[in-house]
Amino acid sequence: MPTVFTHMLVGAAAAQLAPAGVPKARLAVLLALAAAAPDLDVIGFSMGIPYGARLGHRGLSHSLLFAAVLGAAVAAAVLARRQIPWRHWLATATIAVLAVASHGLLDAATDAGLGIGFLIPFSDERFFLPFRPMDTAPLNPQRFFTAGRWRLMLSEMLWVWLPLTLLTLSHQLGRWMGRTAHRRMPVEQQFEFRKGTQGNEVID
Ligand SMILES: [Zn+2]
Repeated sequence: MPTVFTHMLVGAAAAQLAPAGVPKARLAVLLALAAAAPDLDVIGFSMGIPYGARLGHRGLSHSLLFAAVLGAAVAAAVLARRQIPWRHWLATATIAVLAVASHGLLDAATDAGLGIGFLIPFSDERFFLPFRPMDTAPLNPQRFFTAGRWRLMLSEMLWVWLPLTLLTLSHQLGRWMGRTAHRRMPVEQQFEFRKGTQGNEVID
C-alpha cells in the first residue's frame, strides 16, 4: 500500500471536483478519512485472518462494492438536509465513490504484497495494474520514517503528489479564469448567464 498520507491526500483532493452548493471542506475531510479507511483491514492480521482471505488485507475493504457503499454514505452524510439538485447529489456520490476506489487503484500500482480484491464478493481474484511504479509501504506506520523509507515517500511524491498538484493547479486556474470572464461580462449578460443555468450552476 502507499502511505496513509497519500491515500488521504487523494481523497481530500477529489472534493474540489464537487459541484456548487456542496460544502467542500467537510467533504474533503470525510473523503480523506474514507480513502484511508480500507487499510483498517490490517487488524484482521491480529485476529488470525490470512492475507489472501476475502476479509484479509486488500480484500473486501479494497473492493469496488466497499467503495460504492462507503462513498454513497459519505455523500449522504455531507448532503443530508441540503436543498441541491439531484444531479449534484449524483455527481457528489460519484466523486466520493471514486475517491474511496482510488485506494485500491493506488495499492494496485505498488510493487509487493498480494493484489487487490476489486471484485470481492463476486470473485476472489486479486489484481495488480500492469504498471507498478510505487514501493509498498510497511504495514506498521511507525516504520514509515526509518532509513530507506524516504525512497518510498519519493516514489509516492513523484507518481501521486506531483500529478495531483499539477491537476489541482490547472483546475483552480480554470475556475479562476471562468470567474474572471464572468465578472467581465456586462451586467445584462451576467443575468442571462444565470438564467441560462437556472440559477444553480453559477460558478462558485
Ligand atoms: Zn490498502
